Amino acid sequence: MIIDCHTHLAAAEHLGGEMLEGARRAWGPACDLTATPEAHAAAMEECDVAIVLPIDAEEIGYAVPNRYVADYVNADPARRIGFASVNPNRPGADKILEEAVLGLGLRGLKLGPIYQKFNPASPAAYPLYAMADRLRIPIMWHQGTSYVENGPLEYSNAVLLDPVARSFPGLKMVIAHLGHPWFAETACVVRKHPNVYTDMSALSTRPWQMYNAMITALEYGIEKKILFGTDFPFFTVERTIAAFRDINRIVEGTSLPRVPEQVIEDIIHRNALEILGLD
Ligand SMILES: [Zn+2]
Repeated sequence: MIIDCHTHLAAAEHLGGEMLEGARRAWGPACDLTATPEAHAAAMEECDVAIVLPIDAEEIGYAVPNRYVADYVNADPARRIGFASVNPNRPGADKILEEAVLGLGLRGLKLGPIYQKFNPASPAAYPLYAMADRLRIPIMWHQGTSYVENGPLEYSNAVLLDPVARSFPGLKMVIAHLGHPWFAETACVVRKHPNVYTDMSALSTRPWQMYNAMITALEYGIEKKILFGTDFPFFTVERTIAAFRDINRIVEGTSLPRVPEQVIEDIIHRNALEILGLD
């Protein structure tokens, strides 16, 4: 069983502005962030179940409607789980989330402070967390860096989720991408809160960082709280697994520590749905 807990769906009309400009500056002019329903469905043949994430970040040119994700996942509910995204800066954000969950059948909340320009520790965002808590749905956080020029890096460190986790101890939260590049801070937050997890998606192009993030996770003893994800369309399941299984190659011939094979296989086959209450 392979569950990809971190995938995106986005048509060309959902992408533009700073998001696309930044992506092309970082990854080259051919960078394409679109993931149509057809492309997503084809790519997800490589796993059993995928969590599909939208994002509500109009200001930076990245706005995938909740309904778009709902229509896609509801066509194959056994293999697709859709999250909603609501910018906490929207008036009535909590009510919008409630409607997306109870009305559209979405089952989690995706937030990205660097894309949505909010401080996660700000009381203004708390009604949205309270609604997620009441609906008993998990929050997937893009709590890490990004290339978006005007995205606030100062709101993007995992440490800012500590007060949220203290206020909502029953709320399940996932810090995406091991919080890159702040994986040590991420490990600290994940270790101290039983309901905070992380995923290892999107790190395969930075093997040195991925290796260090995993060794840090092992040293803090949080490896059992790491979920498998790809960040599709950036990466596929096949490529992510291949890079992850190859993680120790860069330290071959040295006495540096290895990431145990069993830890890698356990992460690839971890049941994120059970952990997040989505099964
Ligand atoms: Zn992502």
